[in-house]
Amino acid sequence: MASTQPTGAIGRLMEELGKLPGIGPKSSERITHFLLSGETKDVLALADALRDIVQKVHPCRQCYNLTEGELCSICGDAKRDPSILCVVEQARDLASLERAGAYRGVYHVLQGRLAPLDGVGPDKLTIDALVHRVNQGGIKEIIMATNPTLEGDGTALYVSNLLAGSGVKITRLARGLPSGSVLEFANSQMLADALEGRRLF
Ligand code: ZN
Repeated sequence: MASTQPTGAIGRLMEELGKLPGIGPKSSERITHFLLSGETKDVLALADALRDIVQKVHPCRQCYNLTEGELCSICGDAKRDPSILCVVEQARDLASLERAGAYRGVYHVLQGRLAPLDGVGPDKLTIDALVHRVNQGGIKEIIMATNPTLEGDGTALYVSNLLAGSGVKITRLARGLPSGSVLEFANSQMLADALEGRRLF
């Protein structure tokens, strides 16, 4: 079977596509042949877009959301309430909450969750920056919006213990989300309800 695998540039593209979420061998083969038969300018536009996300996108200086500037569009928005801070694991969780359209505060992206078994300790996340941000003052409420999984819950508990002495009110999303479901797959109404029904940690 291995002998029939494409090699060279075609094999390399299929291999790279196969690393993407939801793309199996059949899909990577189909996409590869779609690109091979496509207009050169369209394929190069895709290549440019891929290069751009690597070269231009980086974490926001303040909240670690993804941005091309110094500050992300949320930190730079004067209409957002900087006294309410929502803590999420990943920028994609932030994007889900933004799609729900029910939140007007700001965020802090942890860039992951604590996973001791995988060697992900507090030093691998942006927890120090979060504590520093809280200590600078001006924040009244912190909403823990990590995923309702074992590791997400453990991360929320760790962070809230760290911030317990800060005098800031700490809340968490209501358990409207089915246990184990991740924020990025929850629908907008579920997320809006979870935000609305948040309770003290
Ligand atoms: Zn930001």
